[in-house]
Amino acid sequence: METQDYAPARLRTEVIEEGLCPVCGGCVAGCPYLGEYSGRIIQLDRCTVAEGSCYANCPRTFTDLDEVNRAVFGEAFGTSDLGTFRAAYLARSTDPALRESAGGGGVVPALLASSLKAGVIDAVVSTTTSPDGKTDLLDRNVVSSLHLEGVPSSTMTSDPAEAAELATAAHRFARVLSGFNSIPKDSSQKVGMSCLPCQVLSLRKRTDSSQPNRVGVDSIGLLVSEFCAAKRWLEPGEDRQKANKACSYCWDYTGEFADVSVGSGRAANKGWDAVIVRTEAGEKAFDAAVKSGAIETRPLPQENIDAEMKASRDKKKRALRNIVEKTGNTSDLIYLGIPRELVDTLLKEER
Ligand code: SF4
Ligand code: SF4
Repeated sequence: METQDYAPARLRTEVIEEGLCPVCGGCVAGCPYLGEYSGRIIQLDRCTVAEGSCYANCPRTFTDLDEVNRAVFGEAFGTSDLGTFRAAYLARSTDPALRESAGGGGVVPALLASSLKAGVIDAVVSTTTSPDGKTDLLDRNVVSSLHLEGVPSSTMTSDPAEAAELATAAHRFARVLSGFNSIPKDSSQKVGMSCLPCQVLSLRKRTDSSQPNRVGVDSIGLLVSEFCAAKRWLEPGEDRQKANKACSYCWDYTGEFADVSVGSGRAANKGWDAVIVRTEAGEKAFDAAVKSGAIETRPLPQENIDAEMKASRDKKKRALRNIVEKTGNTSDLIYLGIPRELVDTLLKEER
């Protein structure tokens, strides 16, 4: 049998066939060969690029989290279970209809829409299930160019109302990275995106690298992450058990490298979201949304902070346990490059 040492071949053997791929979409549509079909990543033809960005940008190939943290925040990866951040709030959209359609505080759609209105971003990359969903995106391969009824496809919009509507749809994360990978390289638009933590990591792994044939991360004006405990959507044809198996190795609950992270305000604060503002870009966008009246805030109660810290730590411990079970070796953490001291502490807590 032929063996290959090229980037997509290594991606296939080290990530996909190992059950580590949550189908974040980071490798999709950046080239003519890799696409997403029926809940799987498929390779349409052989590629002979040794160091392809598909491999480099994958959140499940080795990732030095200290390096990522320094690139995003200019400081070392810390030990806080919520990651690096500037402020945290309870917050909600001031529009009751938006809260209703979001099923919570509606901060994500309100923040994206208000950032468009304020000119913080020019467009939002998202996902649609409409077969005639318009798109300004360049399809690089035949699979990602399929716009079939009911099957998610990438879209980009500058209309605040449409961006808000797409940000509350069930499949909102399904094609957001293939959409970003499809933006024409000469685009000067600043985009906003709402992602899951694995998708955020794929984007942040690009911070120090130029991206051949596609826009770089400096095109991102606002990167929002929703908290995630397990994969939130299923692709047509995807098996829940298989999708969640890949998520069982996932370390990040809140999206620690986003500009702003958003999760539920929990039962005691129904209709409100918990918001973690992390970067200067996130702070500017969030403050502008509050100033414009699109979002209102309250202090985040200590019970919420404690609950999110616990949920995050539990997810880290679970991921470590599952990774070590898989490799049989506490020194081989597959993709997870974190300080040894933290590994030892978490493994000790797991016992
Ligand atoms: S985790 Fe994302 S980037 Fe990695 S193989 Fe899966 S879809 Fe591609
Ligand atoms: S748990 Fe969520 S963030 Fe983690 S890999 Fe799965 S979908 Fe991605």
